[in-house]
Formats: sequence, structure tokens, C-alpha cells
Amino acid sequence: MAEVKVDVSKLKNYINGEWVEGDKHTDVINPATGEAVVEVPLSSAKSVDDAVKAAKAAQKEWALVPAPERAEVLYRVGDLMKERKEEIAQLLTLENGKVIEEARGEVQEGIDMAYYMAGEGRRLFGQTTPSELRNKFAMSVRSPLGVVGIITPWNFPIAIATWKSFPAIVSGNAVVWKPATETPIMAHELVKIFESAGLPKGVINVVYGSGSEVGDAMVHHDGIRVISFTGSNDVGRDIAGKCGQQLKKVSLEMGGKNAVIVMDDADLNLAVEGILWSAFGTSGQRCTACSRVIVHEDVKEELEKRLLEEMKSLTIGNGLDSSVKVGPVINKGSLEKINSYIDIAKNEGAKLVAGGSIMNEGEYANGNYFEPTLFTDVKPDMRIALEEVFGPVLSLIPVKSFEEAIEVNNSVTYGLSSSIFTKDVNRVFAAQRDLDTGIVYVNAGTTGAEIHLPFGGTKGTGNGHRDSGVQALDVFTEWKAIYVDYSGKLQRAQIDNN
Ligand code: NAP
Ligand code: MG
Repeated sequence: MAEVKVDVSKLKNYINGEWVEGDKHTDVINPATGEAVVEVPLSSAKSVDDAVKAAKAAQKEWALVPAPERAEVLYRVGDLMKERKEEIAQLLTLENGKVIEEARGEVQEGIDMAYYMAGEGRRLFGQTTPSELRNKFAMSVRSPLGVVGIITPWNFPIAIATWKSFPAIVSGNAVVWKPATETPIMAHELVKIFESAGLPKGVINVVYGSGSEVGDAMVHHDGIRVISFTGSNDVGRDIAGKCGQQLKKVSLEMGGKNAVIVMDDADLNLAVEGILWSAFGTSGQRCTACSRVIVHEDVKEELEKRLLEEMKSLTIGNGLDSSVKVGPVINKGSLEKINSYIDIAKNEGAKLVAGGSIMNEGEYANGNYFEPTLFTDVKPDMRIALEEVFGPVLSLIPVKSFEEAIEVNNSVTYGLSSSIFTKDVNRVFAAQRDLDTGIVYVNAGTTGAEIHLPFGGTKGTGNGHRDSGVQALDVFTEWKAIYVDYSGKLQRAQIDNN
């Protein structure tokens, strides 16, 4: 197994291009071993204020740098991430626990995002459009907002940060970023890369600390024009209320209760592969993880049999061991939460057919390991079928028809990702139209988003914004409509031409 170490023993905030030591600290724990790997500052509102002041000053100048020149920094960021991909991936596994192959994939997502958003430096398209008046010119352009606040979760500690910071920076904003306290090492690495790439001081600032202290100070700071948040629904709802009161722009990406639909004509082997990957990859801790399989009753028994068979091949352990398929979950609190759903499901009448326990013997004793778990005969209105568990726990829900499958998929409060396995082209198109989620897969599991498409969900998953894709620019820019009258006289719209 690779020997991985952080290059410092204490992480520091990064404010105005300086590494600033914190007063109080807490340990970052490797979820695979329970060992402390580095200390992270627990900062206060004062650090947020310092970061906003630095960002505000830097943004004035940064906004005047031509966008193609701003993009040059992102090209260099992409190159540096590519050079250091393996090292960053190992550090990601160290702090987050996900298996190394998936960590490499996550770093690659950041590299892709760097080049894609660098390309936006030569686009950032607005529109020109005719004016209704003679000798008048009309257009719309994107303007930066100023200082943007980014709050990110632990489950994709580098990818989500790139989805947010890269579009923000290429469009001329400065950033104050609060990473999740569980996974601060990715912020340390990404900031070092920004520094080497020549990003001017103050354009990105990192303040470590708890959500209730640092996150809340960002939400309330009147120097921050937009909050871009990814995390849980409870926190997102709370932030939305506070931003609403201040008329502050807010973009929220939150939880999911994603389903794979397996129809009676599906390729069952392919469906099993897709389900295993999206349910147990990242130990079920992806916002797009599959936690429900909605299966046609005619193939339910066969699918269940094959799933149980294949689940036996899921090796569990430290993600740095490349033979491991399922790593630990993030922390003890998560482990307890996942475990609590086992009794909840059993008490509601769901049938446990695999897993269902915390693993705390032998090599698993110090890490946060939970057995890959399968419930069957689950009813759509049981809590296990409605609430986000965020662990390696899957429920099989039998249905009688295509129409019922769509209805069950759409019956949850979330709307992030969905998938259908079928060979019937008519069902494919009807499903694309009727599945009420922001992401739909056909003949693939519920995970695997590509960075040049919009990422986000309907209903309780978000508030209508999207991360990644060209759509991300809408979060970090304001549309400005510009009219140029070259007639030399006063022309009144809607009046002089009617
Ligand atoms: P979380 O507990 O909501 O935390 C997310 C971030 O918000 C962390 O940085 C956290 O800081 C901070 N925070 C906590 N309380 C806050 C407050 N009162 N004000 C401001 N910030 C606050 O979520 P998580 O447990 O890290 O992540 C898992 C959740 O994220 C799941 O629900 C998952 O579905 C969702 N997720 C969604 C997407 C998507 O794009 N839809 C992607 C990935 C994950 P501290 O933790 O440091 O205190
Ligand atoms: Mg949390």
C-alpha cells in the first residue's frame, strides 16, 4: 500500500496570498485507520472578514484582466493537476477514504474542469440582438459579481471545489472558500497549485473552520454577493433562508434518493454491474448514489439472486489498497446514522438479505466500515425508500409496470439522478421525458456525470441552479443589458415606434 503523507503537520488558512496560522485546531482523521493525519484550523468570523477584504481588493484588478488572460491561469492549473494527479489522488483517499481508482477519477474531473473553464475565457458568450428602434444597438454581457462564497462537502472535496471556483475565477470574481472540516487537505493542495500557476494574491482565499462559525459568517457577510453551496438539505435550507432575508444570490446542490429502474426486458447482467457501481462505489456516499432499485416483478427474483451473488465480490478495506472495491465511510457519526436505518427498515417490514452491520473486528476495528447491504420487498412509502442514508445500503422495490416505476421514482422529495435499464426504445423516450430528475441515464447506473453537462437536481435537491457545464457561469455572473443609441436624438422605446 502507498505511504502517503501531508507536507505539513498543521494546515494554514490562505488569505491574500499568505499562509496564515490559526489559533485553534482539530485533527483530520483517516477514515480507514482512525489515525490523525494533520491538524486543521478552526477559524472565526474575523478570518472570514480578512478574507473578504482581501478578495474585494483583488477582484477589482482581476475583473480588468482580459478573460483569455485569466484563462491562462486555469490552463496552468490543469497542467499542474495533471502532473501531480497520483499524489493528489492518494492524499484524497487518505482524508476521504474513497478507493484510489475513484480518487484518481475525481482528480481527473478537476483537470477536465480546468481545461473546459479555461476555454470559457475565449467564449463567455453574451448576445447581440436587434433594437426595436432605428440607429440603436442592443446586447447583453456577463459581468462578474465580485466576491463569491463557496462552501463544499467532504464527499467530493476537490471536484466540487473546481466546479465552483474555476467558473467563478474565469468570469472575473474573487473567491472565499470554506472546505468541509473532514477533508481540508484537498483545499491545501489546490491552493498550492493556484499559487504555482500564478493566480494573483487575494483572488482565492481559503478559511478553514466549522460550518456554524465560518460558513455562517460567510452567509451573513455583506461583502459576499453569492453563496454556492453543496451539502445536506438541512444546512442548505437554513442557508437559503438566511440568504433570502438579505436578497443574496444562493445556489444549492443537495441530497438525492436516486433510483435505477430495471424493466422486464433489461440486460440483467449489465443492470447488475450498473447497480453495484452506483450503489456501493464511494461506499454509497455520492449525492448521485443509487439507493433504490425499482424492479419489474417479472425479473425481481432473478435480479435479486444475481445482485446477491455479485455483492460477494465487493472487497472492503483501506482504499489505498488497489484491490479494495469498497472503502470506509467518512466518520463515526455517519456509521451510526447508516446503522440506525437498518432497524428503521426492519421495523417497517423490509427484508434484510445481505449485510446490515458495522464491521469492527480485526483489520476493520479502527476504521469506519459498514457491510454492503441489501434490503428487498421494500415499499415505496417506507423511510428506507424515501430518506437519504448516504452509505452502502440498497433497497429493492418491486413494481408491476413501467408507469408504476416512473411514479415510484418521482414519489420522493429529491430529484437528482435516475436511470432505466430497458431495450424498448419507446420506453427510453417516455422515461427521458417523465423522470423528474436533473440527470437521467439510460442503460447505465445513476453516477458518472461529465463536467461539460449541467449537474444538479429538481425539487428538494436544489433551488434551480446548476454546477458545471456552461450553466455554472449563470451562478457566478450577472446579466447586464446594454443599449447604445447612435441616432443623435431621444428615442423612446414602446412609444416613438408605435
Ligand atoms: P453538510 O453537513 O451539509 O456540510 C456541507 C458544508 O456546509 C460543509 O463545509 C459544512 O461545514 C458546511 N456547513 C455546515 N453547517 C453550516 C452552516 N450552518 N452554515 C454554513 N455552512 C455550513 O454536508 P456533508 O455532510 O458535508 O455532505 C454530504 C451531503 O452533501 C449529502 O446530503 C449529499 O447528498 C450532499 N451532496 C450533494 C451534491 C450535489 O451536487 N447535489 C454533491 C455532493 C454532496 P463543516 O462540515 O466543516 O462543519
Ligand atoms: Mg457534515
